[in-house]
Amino acid sequence: MKIFAAKETKRGEQRVALTPSVVEKLVQLGAHVSVERGFGQSVNWDDASWESAGAEVKQDSKDGYAQADIVVSLNPPEPTVLDHLNHNAILISFFDPFDNTQLVSALARKRLSGLCMELIPRTTYAQKMDALSSQASLAGYAAVLIAAERINKVLPMMTTPAGTIAPGRVFVIGVGVAGLQAIATAKRLGARVEAYDTRPVVEEQVRSLGARFVKIDVGETGQTEQGYAKALTEEQLERQRRQMARYCANSDIVITTAQVFGRRAPRIVTDDMIAGMKPGSVVVDLAASTGGNVEGTVVDQEVLRHGVLLVGNGNFAGEVALDASQMYASNVFNLIAHAWDKEAARLVLDPEDDVIGTCLLTHEGDIRHPGIREAVEGST
Ligand code: NAD
Repeated sequence: MKIFAAKETKRGEQRVALTPSVVEKLVQLGAHVSVERGFGQSVNWDDASWESAGAEVKQDSKDGYAQADIVVSLNPPEPTVLDHLNHNAILISFFDPFDNTQLVSALARKRLSGLCMELIPRTTYAQKMDALSSQASLAGYAAVLIAAERINKVLPMMTTPAGTIAPGRVFVIGVGVAGLQAIATAKRLGARVEAYDTRPVVEEQVRSLGARFVKIDVGETGQTEQGYAKALTEEQLERQRRQMARYCANSDIVITTAQVFGRRAPRIVTDDMIAGMKPGSVVVDLAASTGGNVEGTVVDQEVLRHGVLLVGNGNFAGEVALDASQMYASNVFNLIAHAWDKEAARLVLDPEDDVIGTCLLTHEGDIRHPGIREAVEGST
């Protein structure tokens, strides 16, 4: 089977979907791997490193697409890519399927199979393929470092002959994978950390990292079978904001990571809450690209509101592109290896398989995920 990866075309993207060591492992499986000329330059892999790993370097991406049985990418492919592909080709990528309904519809129309990295099941077995988690974890780390760099004070407590500096205060809103890594990173830097999530089950995890779990009464909350938060009602969100304002006001850094799968991110930090914060504080919105948890954040920009810096980077994992590429490529390899028929040296898409059946977004002309099918139908 021929596997191809082209350079990412999304503006500012430094990450890539394969690494030389993953190419070696794919070649060992019996795959033929090719990459576009210049692939991986952003993370300092030159064409020779792909060739010595066993990949062919294609001068022209169209040639790569036309011959590929499997196309691997990180960001959703441009719709024009689909025109170059073989009938029955398999695409492995993040697809952002709820927002990219036209792309999903085109995949199905062209009878292309999409293995959607956002839909990898959140099970113990599939953890090694879980690219949402690998990238979220790095994003949580990067967010804290960006905030620490932007703020005009230190995070650890310092006792010096000139006096004692109190530790910086960090408030993390949303304690999924990114939030947990943000807490751990802020703790390592010596900050005093508080955290809040609508899912009470995370209290134990927050405490085990040495942070304080903030309890806010918003009435009934819950989580789905996959462990995702259920959306709050507008009334619950309002109650949450009122109680949370005080914690934001006391913090030097607020990091928001709250997401609800398949929906726009909830608006949690309002302009009034920002106005109540100390000038010089920093708010980092990890949900900026999915609607924003913070009023006034702008994707890929840093803006000043009421003297508070709002950071709305749309690709925090891209700040640590080398490790992010390595983790993503490893997730992709584990997915391919899971579905690989060693004797036939090919990828087998078995819709009955727990992992493949869950992340197989489109197959044989169908959109298989009911929620995404509904979103596609609703958008046409
Ligand atoms: P996510 O990115 O969907 O959301 C981030 C966090 O925001 C979640 O913890 C969510 O509860 C929280 N949130 C949503 N609305 C909120 C609000 N209004 N206020 C405050 N917080 C709010 O989460 P994720 O990182 O993808 O993790 C989702 C779940 O999957 C978690 O339970 C996680 O532990 C679980 N998970 C399991 C595995 C595994 O078992 N293999 C792997 C990864 C994640």
